[in-house]
Amino acid sequence: MRMTRFVVKTLREAPSEAETPSHRLLLRAGLVVPLAAGLYCFTPFGWRVARRMEAIIREEMDRSGALEVHLPALQPIELWQQSGRDRAFGPVLFRLQDRRERWFALGPTHEEVVSFLAARHIQSYRDLPFTLYQIQTKFRDEIRPRGGLIRLREFIMMDAYSFDADWEGLDRSYEAAFQAYLRIFARAGIPVIAVEADSGAIGGKDSQEFMYLTEVGEDTILRCERCGYAANAEKADFRRPPPIPGEPRPLEKVATPGASTIAELAAFLGIEPRATCKAVFYEVDGRPVFVAIRGDLDVNEVKLKNTLKAKDLAPMGEEAVRRAGLVAGYASAIGLPAGILVVADESVVDAPNLVAGANEPGFHLLNTNYGRDWRADIVADIALARAGDGCPRCEGTLETRRGIEMGHVFKLGTVYAESMDVRYLDERGDQRPVVMGCYGIGLERMIAACIEANHDEDGIIWPPDVTPFDAHIVVLNADRPEVADTLAALEASFAAAGLDPLVDDRDESAGIKFKDADLLGIPVRLTVSPRALQQGGVEVRRRRTGETRIVPAAEAVQAVRTILEEESGAVGAARTLAS
Ligand SMILES: [Zn+2]
Repeated sequence: MRMTRFVVKTLREAPSEAETPSHRLLLRAGLVVPLAAGLYCFTPFGWRVARRMEAIIREEMDRSGALEVHLPALQPIELWQQSGRDRAFGPVLFRLQDRRERWFALGPTHEEVVSFLAARHIQSYRDLPFTLYQIQTKFRDEIRPRGGLIRLREFIMMDAYSFDADWEGLDRSYEAAFQAYLRIFARAGIPVIAVEADSGAIGGKDSQEFMYLTEVGEDTILRCERCGYAANAEKADFRRPPPIPGEPRPLEKVATPGASTIAELAAFLGIEPRATCKAVFYEVDGRPVFVAIRGDLDVNEVKLKNTLKAKDLAPMGEEAVRRAGLVAGYASAIGLPAGILVVADESVVDAPNLVAGANEPGFHLLNTNYGRDWRADIVADIALARAGDGCPRCEGTLETRRGIEMGHVFKLGTVYAESMDVRYLDERGDQRPVVMGCYGIGLERMIAACIEANHDEDGIIWPPDVTPFDAHIVVLNADRPEVADTLAALEASFAAAGLDPLVDDRDESAGIKFKDADLLGIPVRLTVSPRALQQGGVEVRRRRTGETRIVPAAEAVQAVRTILEEESGAVGAARTLAS
């Protein structure tokens, strides 16, 4: 491919909106051009990268035994009403009307449609198991699209769905998808760790995310170096410090002027924060909720939201606190105004003699005891794990890392089988719901993370399985007959070997061409110039290390293959080169 014919326009400086290295390089190397918030055009160069990523995903999903399908992005809203997810997704779901004023959704994911398809195939246990996947465009009306290709409103996703007769079958399908994901990320040069994850709006049981750890990530991960436990902060468990033991003592009201925070209260009374009970107020789907948690812990709003199966959850505003008759800084569940749902974290249930608010400004109660003095409507684990907390699996300590979610695997179970009516007849002729799993990978995110993990100050360094071209041929003094002849011979030998080089035949200086070659990041650069020919051939330069040497033009193809193979080893890839 000749660069003069090929739409790739590099930029010397990244536009100021670019926040991260990958975002800057995406724009500078001309892979994408922004159209509007969360919407990007791929250029021919960028689309080649996207197609290589797709090829990796397709090969590894096929290898895992999954079958490729294609499902409509435009979906009748009734399907979403049937699963209840029109409500769960809320404004993130794009909706539109057709000319007959019937409502449709633009799919943010495809559980409903794939369930529809599967239900028309499955009759008995003999039709199971199978896994379907597609690589397709998704739509999400995100509030804040960001980070270049990280959070988009229209994006390409590989989404897979497994259908099994029972949970043991699901475990096998889940493991097959998990292993395929590890191979995909290894070949794409993206180091990932699997972390326990929240199931979010999709619902279900076990789920794990594949995280690329980076300071610019938008997810917080808690990780134990000692045993390898890792979880999204939304989901993470931790070892809670034990309560202070003691026999229940009588309630006592004490004046605590100016002690409206846990820190002030603990200092005023000369006690530890874990000897107190903290009150937090939320507005959940328009209704007031009172949360009690031990003073040394914080509320995990995702766990709370899941516990309440809520759509909207937000800390209560000052006005709403007044309206509900709550006393900020001095509240407890003892003597709370009526009509407020009380949720208690497990930490307050077995902790005796906690200091709690007296629901009166300037006063607290000593020795409050759960069960004796008050009860919650709901008791659950709603505590937030933080850096420094104890690991739930070992004696280690949790540390915080930032990451970008690259992929997600879920054990959905029978949630969709029930709502979308996907059933089969077992050996005895009884009707049972199909047990489902779902698995997703964001393609644009893979490109961003690949660049994030594979670049230096001069530009991108593509892994061999991702590079849009096999070699970058820089031509200098193309008007000289010996240069033109060598280039023609090189192009013929590359074509015969099934390799696809990008040829920089532009009328630019050597300096600009070399800078662009570094920026565009193809793993091997070949220079065809009068000087190299004088030295006995063409100059071969390895992008990652910068090492150069002269090889005879007839050996250039082999030199390129050798470097690509070695680079595959460098990214842990298993690329099979055409022989
Ligand atoms: Zn541990």
